[in-house]
Amino acid sequence: MVEEIGPGVSRLKVGDRVSVPFNIGCGTCRNCIHGWTSFCLRVNPIEGMDGAAYGYANMGPYDGGQAELLRVPYADFNLLTLPAGSEHENDFTMLSDIFPTEGPAHGDRPGAGQAVQPAAA
Ligand SMILES: [Zn+2]
Repeated sequence: MVEEIGPGVSRLKVGDRVSVPFNIGCGTCRNCIHGWTSFCLRVNPIEGMDGAAYGYANMGPYDGGQAELLRVPYADFNLLTLPAGSEHENDFTMLSDIFPTEGPAHGDRPGAGQAVQPAAA
């Protein structure tokens, strides 16, 4: 659930239900535009390192992918919007790790449609 938004966020609003992919992309660099968001050229300040993720050594200054609250850079690009309400909460929990990585990689941009795929049983 989005609890607060910064001045650069335009697509999301407080109260939106979202999933947070663990890798971080800017959405506008050459690699992100080509769908290689795990090798984003902007989000990792370490010289020679492309790509970033929450809570991984050498993957940028982004703490805790499993924290209760998370600051999400480039939120309009990185957060996957879920349907409003509380239905399927346990199912969507599965989307908070590797599954949503597919969203940004397949051209999911601010304002674009979203698709949530069911996980295999
Ligand atoms: Zn990028």
